[in-house]
Amino acid sequence: MRLSRFHLATVKEVPADAEIASHRLMLRAGMLRKLAAGIYTWSPLGLRVLRKVEQAVREEMNRAGAIELLMPSIQPRELWEETGRWEKFGGQLLKLRDRKDAEYCYGPTHEEVVTDFARNELRSYKQLPVNFYQIQTKFRDEIRPRFGVMRAREFLMKDAYSFHLDPASLEAEYRNMYETYGRIFTRLGLRFRAVQADTGAIGGNASHEFQVLADSGEDAIAFSTGSDYAANIELAEALAPAGTRPAPAHALERVDTPTQKTIDEICAFLGVAPAQCVKTILVRGVDGLVALCVRGDHEINEVKAAKLAELPGESVLADEAEILKATGVRPGFIGPAGLPASIPVIVDRSAAILADFVCGGNADGSHYRGANWERDARITRIADLRKVVEGDPSPDGQGELGIARGIEVGHVFQLGQKYAEVLGATVLDDQGKSRVLWMGCYGIGVSRIVAAAIEQNHDEAGIAWPEAMAPWRVAICPIGAHQSEAVREEAERLYAELAQAGIDVVLDDRGLRPGAMFADMELIGIPHRIVVSDRGLAAGTYEYRRRSESENRSLTREDIGRLFD
Ligand code: ATP
Ligand code: MG
Ligand code: MG
Ligand code: MG
Repeated sequence: MRLSRFHLATVKEVPADAEIASHRLMLRAGMLRKLAAGIYTWSPLGLRVLRKVEQAVREEMNRAGAIELLMPSIQPRELWEETGRWEKFGGQLLKLRDRKDAEYCYGPTHEEVVTDFARNELRSYKQLPVNFYQIQTKFRDEIRPRFGVMRAREFLMKDAYSFHLDPASLEAEYRNMYETYGRIFTRLGLRFRAVQADTGAIGGNASHEFQVLADSGEDAIAFSTGSDYAANIELAEALAPAGTRPAPAHALERVDTPTQKTIDEICAFLGVAPAQCVKTILVRGVDGLVALCVRGDHEINEVKAAKLAELPGESVLADEAEILKATGVRPGFIGPAGLPASIPVIVDRSAAILADFVCGGNADGSHYRGANWERDARITRIADLRKVVEGDPSPDGQGELGIARGIEVGHVFQLGQKYAEVLGATVLDDQGKSRVLWMGCYGIGVSRIVAAAIEQNHDEAGIAWPEAMAPWRVAICPIGAHQSEAVREEAERLYAELAQAGIDVVLDDRGLRPGAMFADMELIGIPHRIVVSDRGLAAGTYEYRRRSESENRSLTREDIGRLFD
C-alpha cells in the first residue's frame, strides 16, 4: 500500500470522554469515527486491523472443524417469544417494526436463530456433532456504552453454536473450543487468562471467560498464585472456602432462611416496607450482582433473568456498571472485617435515602444482617478489594488468591438442552428414536479485541501492535525523496521487493518531513520501520527501528530480508 493513495487521517485532539488509552489512541490514529453513542465507523486503517483479527479467528475456527455460515441480524419477534426472551432479554434488545407492523429485533446474540436453523436442518445423528459459526454485527443497547469499541452498542462478534447427541460429545467440543480460543488469543499476541465463569441462570455445567489482563478492564478476576485456578470475582466469592475470612468486628446476626426470591421476602429480610423497597434493590447474589427496579429505566441481563423470573411486577437486572449508572451507588463488598467471602450483599438504596443503607449478606439458605453500609461497606474500588481478598487461600487449596483486572474477550458455554428443548430441535438416533439436541455456544468479541490489544500494547508515542494485528507489518520511510532520485528509487525498489515476498508493507510516499512521518508511524503502531536516506545509501544500509525498541539499527538488505523470514 502507498500511503499517498490511502486515507490516513491521524488527529491531535480527542474528546474528553475518551477515558482509556485504547479509546484515545484509536481516535488519534484515525481508526474510528463516532457516529452516535456506541456506534462507530471503522476507517480504512481501523478496518485493516479488524480484518486481521477476524481472519485469525476464522482460520483457527476452520482449523478446529467449525463451519462458517451467516445468519440475519434482523430476527422476528415470534422466534424470541418461543424462548421467552423477547421480554426477558430486557432493554439491551433493540426492537424494530416494519411497514406491516411486524416486530423484529436486531440480534444481540443468535441462540434462537441458530437453533431454528438446526431444528429444520438436522434430522439424523449422522449429521452430528456440528459446530456452526459466523462473524457478524451485533447490536446491544448497552445502558452505558463507553470506551469506544470496548463497550459499544454495535459491535462485531464471532459466535459459534455446536450441536450434539449427548453431553459427552458436547464436553469434547467444549474442550476443543477452549483450546482453540487459547490458540487464537496467543496468535494475536494477547496476554490473557481463561477463568471460570458463572453459568448463572442459563444453567449448564461449564462456562469459561477469556480475559485479557489490563488495569482498565471492567471485570475483576481472582487467581491462585499456586495453581491454574482463576475465576471471575462473582464465582470466586461463591467458591471461596467457608471460614477463611476474619471474624466480623461488629455483631452480625445469622438468620437461617431459604434464599429470598421475591421482593416481599427480600423486604421482610431487610425490614423495610415493599413500598420503599421496590424502587431499587441491589443484590449481590451467588449468581452475581443484580439490581431490581420496579420503575424507571429497565435493563435485564438475560443470564440472570431466570433467577428473578418469579418476582412480581417488572424486575430489572443489571451489571455493576449499569447499577452504578442507574443509582449512583457503587456496589461494594461488606467491609474489610466483614462477611465471609461466600456471602453476597444486599443493599436497599431506597431505605438508605431515608436512613443508613440497610445491608445484609445473602447466602444460599442463610442470611446475615446487621451490617451498616456507611460503616462497613467502603470497599468500593479494586484496590480495596485486593486488600480484602488477596492472600486468602485459593479455593482449590493450592496457593493464595490474587486479584487482577480483565477485559472479557471470549466466553464459552455449555448450554445443555435449554434452547433445543423449548424450540424442539431434535434428531433421530441410531435406534430411530427422537432425541433433543445438546448445545454449546462460544463467543469472541472481535471488535473488542482491537481495543483490548491496545490496552496491553501502547506507549507515549502511540500504539505498538502485536505483529499479527498490525495494519501493516513494515513501513518504508524515505527521507528527502522529493530532492533525491536515488532515495525515491531505492524506496520503490525495497517496497516492490517486500511486497513481492508477500510481506504486508506500506510505503510512506506522502512527502512529509521525517518528524511528522515517524510520529504517524509510531502512533499507528507499525512494528517495523525502515528509513531510506541518502546517508544510508552511501553506507549501503537502512536505518531500522522496531516499534517496541528505542534504538535504531543499521541493517543491510540481507539483514532486512532475515527480519521477515
Ligand atoms: P460483557 O460482560 O462485557 O457485557 P457479555 O458477557 O455480555 O460481555 P457475551 O454475551 O458473553 O458478552 O458475548 C460474547 C463476547 O462479545 C464477549 O465476551 C465480549 O468480548 C463481546 N461483547 C459483548 N458485549 C460487547 C459490547 N457491548 N461491545 C463490544 N464487545 C462486546
Ligand atoms: Mg453484557
Ligand atoms: Mg460478561
Ligand atoms: Mg459473557
